Amino acid sequence: TNKLLRIEDLYVEYETDDATMHAVNGLDLEIEEGETLGLVGETGAGKTTAALSVMKLLPEKIGTIKKGRIELDNLDIINAAEADMRSIRGNIVSMIFQDPMTSLNPILTVGDQIYEVLKLHRKDSSNAQLSKRVDEILQLVGIPSDRKNNYPHQFSGGMKQRVVIAIALACEPKLLLADEPTTALDVTIQAQVLEMMKTLKEKLKTSMILITHDMGVVAQTCDRVAIMYAGEVIEIGKVEDIFENKNHHPYTEGLFGSIPDLTKSTRRLSPIQGLMPDPTDLPKGCAFNPRCPKCMDKCKIEKPANAVNGSHTIKCHLFK
Ligand code: SF4
Repeated sequence: TNKLLRIEDLYVEYETDDATMHAVNGLDLEIEEGETLGLVGETGAGKTTAALSVMKLLPEKIGTIKKGRIELDNLDIINAAEADMRSIRGNIVSMIFQDPMTSLNPILTVGDQIYEVLKLHRKDSSNAQLSKRVDEILQLVGIPSDRKNNYPHQFSGGMKQRVVIAIALACEPKLLLADEPTTALDVTIQAQVLEMMKTLKEKLKTSMILITHDMGVVAQTCDRVAIMYAGEVIEIGKVEDIFENKNHHPYTEGLFGSIPDLTKSTRRLSPIQGLMPDPTDLPKGCAFNPRCPKCMDKCKIEKPANAVNGSHTIKCHLFK
């Protein structure tokens, strides 16, 4: 199978006035064409930083990629020039955020906003072709095309997020990075928007990284799940590897409350004793060692390597 995205040994730092935050620490991740990967973990695990690195949109002057490789559609992202990135963003990779208003322009009609994105990337198309495409895209996301002359504030939260998705998918990118795209919406709307995203990505054959806290969403939408802790993927596998397999990283066990059970009403991740490590001062060895009930001596010295078992990989000294 073809790898669309390959992230290897990625390290990303944020430099503040008095400290260096290690946001991503040795991240490895691969996405195949057409696949949906759920990226799960607590706030501060580095999920959004990983996505912003692929977009090359880390906060300027503060965020830096220190080491590693990001290969997207055979392009070397880390060494790509900003001019090239402008065409890569939208055409090859797009990102949607939790709050639709961060991506929408309040003073442009939604039709104009989609039109602008198309015009930027499809320089050879005529105005009539672009307008026709705006109508098609709106219909794809379930918005009647006569609403294209409305402004964002005239739409409900769910409809706004549909517009954002329309903009992100306008140029049919190969990869969609969706950062908690439905978290700000109420539950019934969440389900509708997710269902629409699922249908659309199948139709357009887009791959997707879905950042979420909700394991129910993962089970419904994703092919594989990656669990992040302190800036690295500590467990990754097919959805069935994570939901049915008995072997788990101690952190994943903590998240699930030992056994993942989707029939339980609590689909959210359960809290684990202790705090995420201070990103300015990560523990030596396994970053989870201060919270791990199974911590051994060597966990405090040596960083565990990936133990691969078929489609399931765990980064922990217990599995070798
Ligand atoms: Fe726990 Fe050691 Fe495994 Fe880390 S490597 S999760 S500390 S057992």
